[in-house]
Amino acid sequence: MATVLIRNARIPVNDDLIEASMLIENEFITCIRKDLSVNADKTINAKSWILLPGGIDPHAHMYDPEFYYKEDYDSGSKSALIGGVTTVIDMPLVHDVDNAQKLRDRIEVGLRNSRIDFAIHGGFMRKNNHENLRILAEQGIRSFKVFTCSPYEASDDVIFKLMKDAKITNSILTFHAEDGALLSEILESLKDRKDAIVVHEARPPEAEELAIMKIGLYSVIMGSSVHIAHISSSSGVKVVNDLKDRKVDVTAETTPHHLTFTIKDVEKLGPYLKVAPSLKGGQDIEELWRGLNRGVIDMVATDHAPCPKEEKEVGWEDPWKAWSGIPGLATMIPLLFTNGLLKNRLTLKRFVEVVSTTAAERFGLRYKGKLVPGYHADITLVDPKEDRKVTGELYGSGWTPYEGMMLRGWPKMVMLRGRVVVEEGVVYAKPGYGKFIKMERSPLDIKSLEA
Ligand SMILES: [Zn+2]
Repeated sequence: MATVLIRNARIPVNDDLIEASMLIENEFITCIRKDLSVNADKTINAKSWILLPGGIDPHAHMYDPEFYYKEDYDSGSKSALIGGVTTVIDMPLVHDVDNAQKLRDRIEVGLRNSRIDFAIHGGFMRKNNHENLRILAEQGIRSFKVFTCSPYEASDDVIFKLMKDAKITNSILTFHAEDGALLSEILESLKDRKDAIVVHEARPPEAEELAIMKIGLYSVIMGSSVHIAHISSSSGVKVVNDLKDRKVDVTAETTPHHLTFTIKDVEKLGPYLKVAPSLKGGQDIEELWRGLNRGVIDMVATDHAPCPKEEKEVGWEDPWKAWSGIPGLATMIPLLFTNGLLKNRLTLKRFVEVVSTTAAERFGLRYKGKLVPGYHADITLVDPKEDRKVTGELYGSGWTPYEGMMLRGWPKMVMLRGRVVVEEGVVYAKPGYGKFIKMERSPLDIKSLEA
């Protein structure tokens, strides 16, 4: 199909919804206007639904060769589409993406199985592989995951080396920011407890605060770009705010689950809410929302990491044994729409930015995240009045901690590069439709930078 005309849509422009039509030619948006009368190959009546840019999740564990049974590009991208997410940045789980061969292998699997477009974070970078950052940067990887704690802790001298190479290649270091020494000390004192809360108490906000502060101050000296993954606490928000005031090139994400659940919810959901960083309190949730709306936190990411139910069930007896991680791809946009936009915690402008635009800009996903001519026609059309109940059927793993919640913001239709890939909850995109998206942060010319 060459041309598609979407009529009667409401398109967000800053904080207003403007009635407009959109013309799509092949993969791209070519025109948006109030009245547009052209003969297109296909015309879609959007019935005053809201037309959003396709969701972008900058942190999702889509696939791991050792954990095929948990998730893969096929099932993960299907869940993403049902929730209006058209692009993910895939994060390694246990199998590193730390050399050119492993990257090629992963791209190949994604191209074969993904229904949505995908970029890839390198990592987990540490002592044994930090020298490969430059090689991966030349292959289109410009974000590298680094841990400041177990199980992939990078020592400070390695972090400095990574920061140097990240600066040279204009790459971002994406940190799991909790202080390793502090976590080990606490763990030692709690390891005999078996109540559900203990795995949350084992990761206090101070560990997050300390690690973000350290990374931020290192970045002041080293001049590298850093991104803080899954901020979970009000103190984390405060430190990022201070660093931004100091003009550190830092961005941050938080997750839908840290915006939704507190440690109190663990009483009922137990191991099903085991996540890292841990859940915090009600005040933290409000500070995370405020940080998101003010732009202290730049974007939302799911940290999607599902598992079969059995790997959570074992946690009722011994929470240390439960899998840490939850599914989140299908519910990211509805949760932000319902609990953010509709509850006035997020303005319309911020809503669009945090679920799509900012991630594309920060990680260099060209043609993504904006509704303007010349960009990919990745869109999700939402009926703002329709409620749908969350069920485990959204995922291959068959469960979600949001089970039973009534949410709005589900897509009536999703398009990816000009093609209808979801309509009324039915996914039409086949595995293999997804494209690998390089991160294009700036032209890379290591040799001239070194000269
Ligand atoms: Zn993660």
